[in-house]
Amino acid sequence: MPFAKLGLSSPLVQAITELGYKTPTPIQEQAIPAILSGNDLIATAQTGTGKTAAFVLPLLERFSNAETLRGKRIRALILVPTRELAVQVEASVAQYAKHTPLTSMAAYGGVDTAPQKERLIEGVDILVATPGRLLDLAHQRAVHFDELQVMVLDEADRMVDMGFVDDIHKIIVRLPENRQNLLFTATMTNDVRAIAHAFSDSKMTDVAANISITPNVRAAATINQWLITVDKDTKSALLSHLINEQAWDQALIFVEKKHSAAKLVAQLEKRGIQADSIHGGRSQAMREKVLDQFKSGELKYLVATGVAARGLDIGELSRVVNYDLPFQPEEYIHRIGRTGRAGASGEAISLVDISDFKNLCAIERRLKNTIERKDVEGFPVKKAVPVSNLDHVKKSSR
Ligand code: AMP
Repeated sequence: MPFAKLGLSSPLVQAITELGYKTPTPIQEQAIPAILSGNDLIATAQTGTGKTAAFVLPLLERFSNAETLRGKRIRALILVPTRELAVQVEASVAQYAKHTPLTSMAAYGGVDTAPQKERLIEGVDILVATPGRLLDLAHQRAVHFDELQVMVLDEADRMVDMGFVDDIHKIIVRLPENRQNLLFTATMTNDVRAIAHAFSDSKMTDVAANISITPNVRAAATINQWLITVDKDTKSALLSHLINEQAWDQALIFVEKKHSAAKLVAQLEKRGIQADSIHGGRSQAMREKVLDQFKSGELKYLVATGVAARGLDIGELSRVVNYDLPFQPEEYIHRIGRTGRAGASGEAISLVDISDFKNLCAIERRLKNTIERKDVEGFPVKKAVPVSNLDHVKKSSR
């Protein structure tokens, strides 16, 4: 998806194109439209996910037609825990704002306040600041918050760790009540939740969009692969059982044929599990709609044919399921590569019936390993699936 589709106008698109950004990262795809719509937002995202652009770009967009600022006023405050981050984030703001008239500055401790005060006299659209220095400048009446529209708390968990909670509270009470709040954190802890509450009388946690993004980790080692052998006629019952029993938060479920996709959705729904599908038989518009629902978390279980899912930027997932095994081992590798998050490892689960055996052999040979098998109570297998011989000499019985 191009940046312009996210609602960014040409001066911003030009700046990011010049920086070499080709497509938005997952957090940008989700956060930019949410922020442009004026909503509060809580996002769990680590450094490296493109989170800075995710909140800076919509701010710049929002202010692009704004009226002239009065002196010592700011439109947005980005609070960061460290001086280094203040410098870094402000540098990004300046790069993204290059083709706009919008201004930015960084205010941090450890240096003389005079140049910072001087710079604030004319007003600054986006102020990036560490809490202590900001309070200092506010006490000295070098900055006023009455025109502030957006407050961003970046790396909120680090702010807590560094003991800035009191300062944050002192800053919040100085801000206009009617403002947009954005909170970014690498981890969601109770302390961070408490700050989110304090932001605006718990309004934030009730209405804010919640976005969770973890960096792309491709290491296969973090992917927990396992399989269950099953009879063809109990496959959908087994899948429903696993979804419920293991309380899966999310799953991308691969099937081989488009008619099996629709059938599986119906079978899951019969058991009270809401799912949807993308396959070649659905229009592009419909596929995109379903995909967006899946990405936003509104839809938890997406059934997809490999062909329809190919080329779609689904981002990182906690779990993929091979309801049918693919014919090509490479396709299996590609599918499981969609999981494997930093910290929490991804899962790739295959439901293997006897008709999948040939494909299983090819995949396991490609992996140079057999995939761990697990048994699930209540699903005895009538047609046992043999263990593949990795040297492909002869199949042996399980
Ligand atoms: P951040 O997570 O904000 O610290 O960003 C990490 C790095 O990714 C920074 O060097 C950004 O310049 C870069 N970056 C951000 N968005 C994109 C994008 N859409 N495409 C390529 N690089 C990006």
